[in-house]
Amino acid sequence: MTTRHETGTAAPHRVLILGAGYAGMSAAIQLATRVKRREDVRVTLVNPQERFTERLRLHMTATGQRLAELSIPELLEGTGARFVRGWVTAVDADAKTVRIDDDQVLHYDTLVYGLGGVADTAAVPGVEDHAYTLNSAQDAEVLAGRLAGMGTGTVVVGGSGLTGIESAAEIAERHPELNVVLLGRGEPGAAMNPKARAYLRSALERLGVRVRGGAEVVKVLPDTVELAGGESIAADLVLWTSGTRVSPLAAAAGLTVDERGRVVTDATLRSVSHPEVYAVGDAAAIRQGYGVMHGTCQGGMPTGVHAAVSIVRALKGKRPKPFRFGYYHTHAGEPGPARRGRAVHPPRRQPPADVSDRPDGGPV
Ligand SMILES: Cc1cc2nc3c(=O)[nH]c(=O)nc-3n(C[C@H](O)[C@H](O)[C@H](O)COP(=O)(O)OP(=O)(O)OC[C@H]3O[C@@H](n4cnc5c(N)ncnc54)[C@H](O)[C@@H]3O)c2cc1C
Repeated sequence: MTTRHETGTAAPHRVLILGAGYAGMSAAIQLATRVKRREDVRVTLVNPQERFTERLRLHMTATGQRLAELSIPELLEGTGARFVRGWVTAVDADAKTVRIDDDQVLHYDTLVYGLGGVADTAAVPGVEDHAYTLNSAQDAEVLAGRLAGMGTGTVVVGGSGLTGIESAAEIAERHPELNVVLLGRGEPGAAMNPKARAYLRSALERLGVRVRGGAEVVKVLPDTVELAGGESIAADLVLWTSGTRVSPLAAAAGLTVDERGRVVTDATLRSVSHPEVYAVGDAAAIRQGYGVMHGTCQGGMPTGVHAAVSIVRALKGKRPKPFRFGYYHTHAGEPGPARRGRAVHPPRRQPPADVSDRPDGGPV
């Protein structure tokens, strides 16, 4: 399908994919592979780094473990997709343009919005100034340096969701000389079944992680974490994993977003306000039978693949199919406390497959 632009000339249909995380990368590889032989479709992927960030392994980077060097241009090699290195600073949904680093403008006919999300450092005072995060590979490397140089002391991990659990466990395992405290509102793994929860508890115990449930952090200071109720916990280092914050770009562009700023999609993953925009991964608010999907790469990668399949269908004049996704497991597996059961491999070039027909399951 060719697209007729303002000049009246037929030009290739431009698909622009923002963010080369698990979701954006899956979309790029699947789409580019499927349209490889088509001269009338051009696929471009934008990301600030050339190296693929294995976000789900950043707690390993933070404890000094080396991850595989995965180059995005190399992963795209042979697919025909173009890679643009840069930071998206604005999306103009009316003009269908994206500004990169404030000095480059890319046009699109179809946009795939996959800018992910990060831990929310704005909700609790002091987090921004005094806490470490795993929001990027660079943040994880900075944390690794600090942990390695601490000698002894107390590390407080704020947030007892899966990222907090994995991080606390990894730090305790790699740095047995440190006291690790895991703070959260609920019991770690509260949504898991009793057997998995018990396993998790005993694994954290074995690693010496002190778990404090029912803890609401109200302030982070340079050497203390203050809890609601007035209690203070001494902390030589705070790692913040709680909450999620997404880029404000979608809201600023006038796309319909939910209360957390995620792009609200229809059943086929298109923006409800701008159907030429697909939203994928953590940046999207995707409703399934059991509620809005929460951010994981297990869910994010299939959204990227589905967007690619839908774009190909639309290019052929067919209607995109609804996206259906259910979680198969929440296993906090052997032999480590949590990480091995939850890990997912980064997107690789695979034969195109529409995984959206997976049977629906329940929430984690
Ligand atoms: C420590 C840790 C452990 C985790 N473990 C697991 C696990 O075991 N299993 C699991 O399923 N999930 C896990 N997760 C969650 C998982 O990593 C995320 O759900 C997943 O990365 C979301 O994929 P995504 O593609 O939507 O976003 P991301 O992977 O965050 O990718 C977004 C991309 O967009 C880029 N980007 C952002 N803003 C801009 C901009 N303005 N301009 C250009 N590019 C931009 C980013 O640099 C990034 O490359 C973990 C997360 C963390 C932090």
